[in-house]
Amino acid sequence: MPTILIASRNDHKSEEIGAILGDGFAILSLDAFPDAPPVIENGDSFAANATKKSREIAAWLKKQALGQALPDFVLADDSGLEVDALGGAPGIHSARYASGEKQGNATDADNNAKLLREMADVPEADRDAQFRCVLAMTPLGQAVRTELFEGICRGRISQTEAGGGGFGYDPLFIPDGFTQSFAELGSATKNTLSHRAKALTKLAAFF
Ligand code: IMP
Repeated sequence: MPTILIASRNDHKSEEIGAILGDGFAILSLDAFPDAPPVIENGDSFAANATKKSREIAAWLKKQALGQALPDFVLADDSGLEVDALGGAPGIHSARYASGEKQGNATDADNNAKLLREMADVPEADRDAQFRCVLAMTPLGQAVRTELFEGICRGRISQTEAGGGGFGYDPLFIPDGFTQSFAELGSATKNTLSHRAKALTKLAAFF
């Protein structure tokens, strides 16, 4: 059974990835490697950032004398929301959308409030959007060949937040074919149709 380290400090993402991948994989989180360095996400695409995260953590792991078993692969997720009426924004800036000039990520509440402000004049018919997820998986063996898997989930941005589940923009995102937000639908439903689920289905097929 392959052991996969999920290179994310976003517990929500790690939980979703673990739940979707299921029993065929042994999953480790960065909690097992508390000294792993932070990775600066300065790439210009989801693929570039996911690749950077997975390769930097894999390279760091290979240099350590940890005295513990190493994973077979390092898996990184870079993902975000792309709103048609905003030309694809917030995109790769999704986590820090409301931070402005400040460094670092904004809170989910601030990001959602900013999104609603930016879309205040956008009519119902033009509120289409999508979540995109790119997974980058780097093996720890000799040959470093990073595999990429992408998933997209189309939907629309509602006028008000609804629901207490999920994370990030989930209270504002209504997936195609539904009338409730990801945050209302709950993890079992989200995990069958989300951008992350679609990317992980491709990853599982790879094995
Ligand atoms: P990353 O951790 O740099 O990839 O940033 C991802 C950001 O995109 C998160 O902080 C959320 O704001 C947003 N995002 C990604 N996936 C989801 C999701 O499944 N639901 C809601 N928001 C998401």
